[in-house]
Amino acid sequence: MRADPRFALAAATAFFLVASGARAQAAKEWPIHDRTRPLPPVVDPGTAGTPDQPGKPPSDAVVLFDGKDLAGWKSQKDGGPAPWKVEKGYFEVAKGTGGIETRQGFGDCQLHIEFMSPSPAVGEDQDRGNSGVFLMGRYEVQVLDSYNSVTYADGQAGALYGQSPPLVNASRPPGQWQTYDIVWEAPRFDKDGKLTRPARATVFHNGVVVQHATVLTGPTAHKARPPYAAHADKLPISLQDHSHPVRFRNVWVRELKERP
Ligand code: MG
Repeated sequence: MRADPRFALAAATAFFLVASGARAQAAKEWPIHDRTRPLPPVVDPGTAGTPDQPGKPPSDAVVLFDGKDLAGWKSQKDGGPAPWKVEKGYFEVAKGTGGIETRQGFGDCQLHIEFMSPSPAVGEDQDRGNSGVFLMGRYEVQVLDSYNSVTYADGQAGALYGQSPPLVNASRPPGQWQTYDIVWEAPRFDKDGKLTRPARATVFHNGVVVQHATVLTGPTAHKARPPYAAHADKLPISLQDHSHPVRFRNVWVRELKERP
């Protein structure tokens, strides 16, 4: 099998995009090349994956699925164990059981997740390999089989559902593993619950940037654009049961701290 450099590139580039914005502000506070300036923590970056084999997560990642079990997830319906099917190295949506969510909450983060659309493809439009990655349980990066399959632009793979179409359609065919690398900046609310900064998402689909610091108008919804409603700083990441047997593997997340 051939190593796919885009798998590694995605993670590195995604982090750079977030870091570069903050650096411009921080630079004023430190003399240039100041050797007393604290050095960043050292991270083992893990290994790049290939379409056939998932890579190894970075050393500071919270691993949400390593191929074995869904211990880090629970049912959205009743809070019990995640009822989706775990097979060899991946898990699959169990139709009708409802969504699953992480036991841990996350705010700003870098999320890596791989998915595979059902093969052979069944259905069309929104009824084809539909699932979703919901940051904070509210903001959906659409998962859909958009390979040679057309739907409305703001509902195809890589869309911030109902708001922003992906910049390009970088979908792989059904039956092949695909990657999302998401840099999530959570919305900020003041103590009275007023929005002080909207959420932003940067998304790489199979290593290709499809959302570039895209600002969200509020939670994502079907045929609606609801306004922001104040919520906790950290909330579970959830995955959607849209009745399609979409598979997932190699899920990990890195919490992103605000710069001091
Ligand atoms: Mg969906």
